[in-house]
Amino acid sequence: MYLQDTIAAISTPVGAGGIGIIRISGPDAVKVASALFRSAAFDPRAPQSHRLYYGTIVDPQGCSSIDEVLITCMLAPRSYTREDVVEINCHSGVTVLQKILGLVVRCGARPAEPGEFTKRAFLNGRIDLAQAEAVIDIIEAKTEASLKIASAQLHGRLSDTLHALRDELIDITAHVEAAIDFPEEDIDPADARDMERRLIEITGKLQSLSATYHEGKLYRLGVKTTIVGKPNVGKSSLLNALLGEDRALVTPVPGTTRDVIQETISVRGIPLVLQDTAGLHAGSDEMEKLGMDLTRARLAEAELVLFVIDGSRDIDERDRAIMAELAGRKIIAVINKDDLPPAVSREQVRQLFPGTAVSVSARNGSGLARLKELIHHTVLMFPHDSSADSIITSARQRDALDRTAVALSAAHQAVRNSRAPELIAVDLHAALQALGEITGETTAEDILERIFASFCIGK
Ligand code: GDP
Repeated sequence: MYLQDTIAAISTPVGAGGIGIIRISGPDAVKVASALFRSAAFDPRAPQSHRLYYGTIVDPQGCSSIDEVLITCMLAPRSYTREDVVEINCHSGVTVLQKILGLVVRCGARPAEPGEFTKRAFLNGRIDLAQAEAVIDIIEAKTEASLKIASAQLHGRLSDTLHALRDELIDITAHVEAAIDFPEEDIDPADARDMERRLIEITGKLQSLSATYHEGKLYRLGVKTTIVGKPNVGKSSLLNALLGEDRALVTPVPGTTRDVIQETISVRGIPLVLQDTAGLHAGSDEMEKLGMDLTRARLAEAELVLFVIDGSRDIDERDRAIMAELAGRKIIAVINKDDLPPAVSREQVRQLFPGTAVSVSARNGSGLARLKELIHHTVLMFPHDSSADSIITSARQRDALDRTAVALSAAHQAVRNSRAPELIAVDLHAALQALGEITGETTAEDILERIFASFCIGK
């Protein structure tokens, strides 16, 4: 086991609430908690694992009682980190949580770094790196479909797929290395052909897995989407109609000059992260004021644009001016106000704008199902049956898979050209090294640091 000091952190969001949890992990976890915890039932020399103890947290210096709590000891190795873990369930309030954490630190624990509990779970071999990454994805899952993918990864579905490929590669490498050990024997031509076949097959599997990244990223990060159009075409009504049915998350985005909120809706499980919806809610006055600048700002980061036109009025210069800004983007033209007598036909829109168009009524909801179908189709270019196979969700994983595939292609070429087994082995080892980075067997320390630094404190 990876032995080290004892860490502690507040593991629940700091704020008013029913329960807050302070988590302590490490060799002194029980000792630290015992210094503060008073309970008739609790014996600090022989705490029972996985049992709730009722008692009081006291300040050992003044002996004043701080809060009424429940604590659990999860003794090594049956804990999240595989070390001794104590969780203190206290009331949730900024002052009480910080007071108890302060006492825990005074009694010998060190404040934990972001992600340090999960890092310990990884270093102590409870989960691999792909599973550790899935923990963040679960915390940040934007829709149920995103959660399902992350949860499958945490349960080891991706790791199992990778281990099977790795075992196969190790087997091939062992064959090649046997030939190195007996230099008088070349690789048998029949063996070489079999090896080529297996290498091609593994490379194909790696490439298919790498290709799931597009979809994995969509489910994990969502699609940054913006709604543009001239004033009064119904942008804010469309937003509300979409939100009304499938609102998933509302997140304030700090550090901007105006009030900006992000709202996420689930379109068949894909999170559509709608940018700058505060501006939309503010209505058309603000749009008039900020005009084209606001449209450009909205477009800057968008991966998908919903371009709204009022279908009950003729297309005019202002529609065209916005359209001119949209070149080269993934766009769906939404012809709104379908409940009114039409002035614009879909064909007219198509002539002006060659992309996908759909008629809707934000007022009565007609066409919204079709719009969602189009959104799904537009963003998910190569749908993948996520219930059947593994799916990768991070660029790091894709990069490692691609490097593995490149090394395997080189190994394949070397086998085909009857190169010396030493040379084939070099490529195979490069492939194993790259593949092992995904699950963490061969990952460099700085990359591990970066991954765990992206966690929140207390996880
Ligand atoms: P925005 O300025 O583009 O955000 O437009 P709004 O959503 O504020 O809508 C402008 C006006 O059009 C409002 O009076 C809405 O009630 C109306 N409106 C929006 N969508 C529809 C629709 O589908 N049908 C009809 N008849 N009116 C709509």
